[in-house]
Amino acid sequence: MVAEIRLFTCLTDNFGALIHDPATKATASIDAPEAGPIVKALEQEGWQLTDILITHHHHDHVGGVAALKQKYNCRVVAPHDKSTKIANVDLRAAHGDVVKVGGLLARVLETPGHTLDHISYVFDNEKTLFAADTLFSIGCGRVIEGTHPMMWDSLLKLRALPDDFKLYCGHEYTAANIKFALTVEPDNAALKARAGEVTRLRAANKPTVPTLMGEEKKANVFLRADDPSIAAKLHMKGVNAAEVFGELRERKNKS
Ligand code: ZN
Ligand code: FE
Repeated sequence: MVAEIRLFTCLTDNFGALIHDPATKATASIDAPEAGPIVKALEQEGWQLTDILITHHHHDHVGGVAALKQKYNCRVVAPHDKSTKIANVDLRAAHGDVVKVGGLLARVLETPGHTLDHISYVFDNEKTLFAADTLFSIGCGRVIEGTHPMMWDSLLKLRALPDDFKLYCGHEYTAANIKFALTVEPDNAALKARAGEVTRLRAANKPTVPTLMGEEKKANVFLRADDPSIAAKLHMKGVNAAEVFGELRERKNKS
């Protein structure tokens, strides 16, 4: 049986996401920005929450954990880095670990940079990536705790996933990301196509994710910092990709 995924808004611009295994009835919430919308989504489907898979310690990703744990007595899986002091954790996950959600398998990738503890979850059988605040559609997370080379390395891990994998991310930032990306690559055909699609989706009040990794690889400038055409546009010919990535990230911060 095929896993079911539900996506909805939490807080202002966070995504809540549930993944459900019909065979075992297990359901995981990817992060827990706030309990209310997650409980509502579960009740709409008649699902019981069995697991919370936390990606990183920021409050907009763990704020609902305590209330959900109390209501459902679910298992809480969190990054291995204990220094971040995420509360109510039952299982610590590190790079390469495979976490079971009923019969579903979530492979853990350590993707530090936005925070030092950030992990992403890959459901290989479902061809689905939950990248939270590491990779956004047409963007990437701010590099808050890590370094630019660290974040670039994390993006390369995600870029290695096949083109037909679906990307789910932590925030609805796509429209703003496109606005910036077009300042770097006004002639990128894939980016322009995505811009049109996102304008239509937002006008219809629909989320802009999931999107396909293959499309992101073509349209997301932050995944293409090692493309010589990007270095040339930034007048950084011959400069290494991590530095080009850093320049892109700095420009986005100021945009
Ligand atoms: Zn964050
Ligand atoms: Fe966030």
